[in-house]
Amino acid sequence: MPVTDPVKSEIVRKRLLDKKICRKCGATNPPKAVKCRKCKSRNLRLKKKFGGKKG
Ligand SMILES: [Zn+2]
Repeated sequence: MPVTDPVKSEIVRKRLLDKKICRKCGATNPPKAVKCRKCKSRNLRLKKKFGGKKG
């Protein structure tokens, strides 16, 4: 799915960062997920860009 619109690609970029990664198995989960959809672990972390500021 090619995205040529810069505004849309920006939204897509932000959405990609808004995910949770399982620390146990590395699966990507929706940002609202409490448990990993793969291994059911609650050890999830938010995928963030470059560290940076907190909050
Ligand atoms: Zn997992």
